[in-house]
Amino acid sequence: MSARRKTEKKVEAAQAKAEPASKSEGAITIPASLTVKQLADLMGVSAVEVIKKLMRQGIMASINQVIDYQTAATITPDFGYQALAEQGPTQAALLAQRRKRFVEDDTGAQKPRPAVVTIMGHVDHGKTKLLDAIRETNVAATEVGEITQHIGAYQVEVHGQKITFLDTPGHEAFTAMRARGAQVTDTAILVVAADDGVMPQTIEAIDHARAAGVPIVVAINKMDKPEANAQRVKQQLADLGVVCEEWGGDVVCVPVSAKKKEGISDLLENLLIVAEMEELKANPERRAIGTVIEAKLDKSKGPLATVLVQIGTLKMGDPLVIGDTWGKVKAMFNDRGKRLKKAEPATPVEVLGLGSVPQAGDTFRVTATEREARTLAQRGQEEKRLATLRPISPPRLTELSSQIREGQVKELNIILKTDVQGSIEPIKTSLERLSIDEVKVNILHSGSGSITEGDVLLALASRGIILGFNTRPEPGAKQMAEAEGIDIRLYEVIYNLVDDVERAMKGMLEPTYVEVVEGHAEVRAIFAASRRAKVVGVYVSDGKVARGAGARIIRHGEVVFESTVSSLRRFKEDAKEVATGFECGVGIEGYNDFEIGDIIELYRRERQ
Ligand code: GDP
Repeated sequence: MSARRKTEKKVEAAQAKAEPASKSEGAITIPASLTVKQLADLMGVSAVEVIKKLMRQGIMASINQVIDYQTAATITPDFGYQALAEQGPTQAALLAQRRKRFVEDDTGAQKPRPAVVTIMGHVDHGKTKLLDAIRETNVAATEVGEITQHIGAYQVEVHGQKITFLDTPGHEAFTAMRARGAQVTDTAILVVAADDGVMPQTIEAIDHARAAGVPIVVAINKMDKPEANAQRVKQQLADLGVVCEEWGGDVVCVPVSAKKKEGISDLLENLLIVAEMEELKANPERRAIGTVIEAKLDKSKGPLATVLVQIGTLKMGDPLVIGDTWGKVKAMFNDRGKRLKKAEPATPVEVLGLGSVPQAGDTFRVTATEREARTLAQRGQEEKRLATLRPISPPRLTELSSQIREGQVKELNIILKTDVQGSIEPIKTSLERLSIDEVKVNILHSGSGSITEGDVLLALASRGIILGFNTRPEPGAKQMAEAEGIDIRLYEVIYNLVDDVERAMKGMLEPTYVEVVEGHAEVRAIFAASRRAKVVGVYVSDGKVARGAGARIIRHGEVVFESTVSSLRRFKEDAKEVATGFECGVGIEGYNDFEIGDIIELYRRERQ
């Protein structure tokens, strides 16, 4: 049976299983959270009856209280309904989203290409072990004398078809690449240990994959362990909207043991099926374009970069440009150290011959001539310089607010972190309720705990903002957010958080400013700079004086005038800043009535 036919059969089977549930009178689909009233409406009963049933379970809830799926599911049978978890975005919807975003200039005759797969999941659930197991079970394809090389990616062959695996597991690496603009992964394997179940990073991985529009295949690992419980994992995943095929969903879930190398071929076959549904194609007959996966400086070989060819074919001798560096392919090796003459779409190869070490996530492009590569690299250097001067960051909430007002923004991407698990659902529900026809509130990820670098990366890659409720960013995350210009807003009152987002949605949120005092200067002399304007000779007693800074004239402890520093001179030369302990000449915009002994307070406004 062809893989496509298998897919169709699987889809049919899944539908057949799903239908009785959704059609039968006794089943209702319940979202991850909802209010008591919404649940009552779904079942067509009064809210009072629902409240009574909840009370009998020891849960005191009011009509507008938000309850989670699990709680709702415990009382629905009392009303004659079987609860079904609402599915997250379907795999097909994810694909459509990805296609929309992944616009390539790949025209011409397209041919099927292998899938590029990333492994994600919670720490210690067996990502590395699974990557090794997949690699080792395919030793048959290895020729004598070839030795495994870790170049950042490898390829295996299943029934004559190739699959490419990225060797750096984890959603942080995946999203870091995305934040640099690289769309590399076609499918994500979500590893969940059958003994441990769904953990915080499992949820993060799901959200990161969804935000990127990448379909998931679940590998339920460690099935060899006596405590393994695949059913529990499937239930936990279903609660998150990742519903396995056997349960009427569209996510493939494969039990495996990376340790015993069991279930690996089943997993690989399923990856082929998912890849086939994705209809991955590229034109091999053109100059290559792709992404740097890993790069380093080798003492004897010079700069080495592992690149993934995404479209076209990379050949020996090709001139290429990567950001601000360029070179010529002097030699290419695959993950088994074998020298290659050419590399087709979805092939990872280690390339020798670059002028300097590029960055992972950078795009490479083959050019017609070496001269073109060199010119583009010079332009790349200039762009890099400009980029450091004016970093392109996602907009802050206040900027989004004015963009919403102007109708430029259709989606508000939010990452929500709270102190405790219990705060997530009420805030999430309140925020999602703010969605209007023109703008949708999109909670990309929510979780309890501090704000991590992973959260900042997700915000960067998805042009989102981070909202923290009774939590703070980790030091690394704070630094990263400041460097990348990511908006982290912290709240201690739910109302304020929801109110800010609501005002942003209505295009009403204006930036708020805080004032930072920069220094003080004492007026020691007064001069006439022209017939009308006066300047003063001052001594900077603390901090600094800067041109353009806010200035307040204080006389006998009272503010007599407020304006800005219009001119600043030192030894007849214009100056930008003058520091503590120095004297200088200062002009204040619109003010001439100075007196000796006046204090000038200097300040600047900072946007919050
Ligand atoms: P990672 O952090 O997700 O990359 O996890 P590792 O691959 O490093 O595995 C974490 C631990 O789980 C290691 O001690 C592995 O030997 C063990 N492990 C991984 N897969 C299996 C498995 O299928 N069965 C058992 N029993 N242990 C496993």
